[in-house]
Amino acid sequence: MEIAIIAHDGKKPEMVSFLMKHRVALNNNNINLIATGTTGKFVEQAGLKVMKCLSGPLGGDAQIAARVVEGKTNMVFFFRDPMGKHPHEPDVNMLLRLCDVHNIPLATNPATAEMLLDHLK
Ligand code: PGA
Repeated sequence: MEIAIIAHDGKKPEMVSFLMKHRVALNNNNINLIATGTTGKFVEQAGLKVMKCLSGPLGGDAQIAARVVEGKTNMVFFFRDPMGKHPHEPDVNMLLRLCDVHNIPLATNPATAEMLLDHLK
């Protein structure tokens, strides 16, 4: 099972603490994490194993979108910053759209991500 994780800058600490809180569940369910570059770096520094794509603005969201399309990613946690403006907004929208096209569970905040993880137990 592969979960893609992406967090905009204002949400990266929240992503790290979310994953740390659920590290046992991630381990027990044999979950492989894949992340956009900077999010991945933060998660790695916290001691979790993660496969890193390019940074979001350089195409990392697009790389993850491709994995969704190819059926390699089973779930996406995308903690967006609703207050920020991002130069790669088109890539962000593409990823959200492709999750819907391929019926891939997508959480855009920790409350929803928690429910999805609970469902795996
Ligand atoms: P980042 O990308 O993890 O490389 O910061 C996230 C994003 O899409 O903004």
